[in-house]
Amino acid sequence: MSSDRRPIVAGNWKMNTTLGEARTLAGALARRLAAIEAADTVVCPPFISLDAVRQALDGGRMALGAQNAHFEEKGAFTGEVSVAMLADLGCQYVIVGHSERRAIFGERDDLVAKKVNAVLAHGMTPIVCVGESLQQNEAGKTEQVVGGQVRAALGGLPPEQVGSLVIAYEPVWAIGTGRAASAADANTTIGFIRRTVGEVAGADAARATRIQYGGSVTAANAAELFGQPEIDGALVGGASLKVDDFVVICEAAVR
Ligand code: PEP
Repeated sequence: MSSDRRPIVAGNWKMNTTLGEARTLAGALARRLAAIEAADTVVCPPFISLDAVRQALDGGRMALGAQNAHFEEKGAFTGEVSVAMLADLGCQYVIVGHSERRAIFGERDDLVAKKVNAVLAHGMTPIVCVGESLQQNEAGKTEQVVGGQVRAALGGLPPEQVGSLVIAYEPVWAIGTGRAASAADANTTIGFIRRTVGEVAGADAARATRIQYGGSVTAANAAELFGQPEIDGALVGGASLKVDDFVVICEAAVR
């Protein structure tokens, strides 16, 4: 981690937790992480639990995030949730372009860019996910794929806005597989992403933008990942559902 940027660890609960489970998990995390001041910690529960989790966080330091949003304010979009609704609920972060949304729900780069714009327009911080598939990785196309995703998501934004958002580098082959990228490889690709941000929005934005690693981050590998100079934190899936593990990961971010 670099001392220039504040670390950020976010938990993506995905389609897990009932309302009651979400309340219990958020309450436990809020208590256990109350002392963490030197890093931002975020939980992203399912939509239906956002309000209950906000209450369970009880005005503490942990922030609330959503896993997705629709870019329109309101209207005839059955089943969708707008950025305006999320901002009204007290969300500070929205995950945008997660690889599961790209792969399972067909989200493309142009839609991801619209969502990034909408989230920023409502004063929230997008966590913009990028990452290559196993096939692309093995074909040596990581930089081409990830660079293209970054340019598509951020192109046209004012540099100050680019500097304020969060990017999560999540190699698809590492998500939920127990096979994390090596700390050195993650650092190299995140360094490439930072250079790309610099080309898109200038050196100040590149220095300011926080870039997380995501993909099978655990209590056991977090400290090594966070020891890398380019890695500013983590987007955590499976391990964010386990209180003890998520606490260890968040604590590793402030060491
Ligand atoms: C994710 O879904 O963003 C993720 C990183 O999942 P996991 O930590 O379970 O690999």
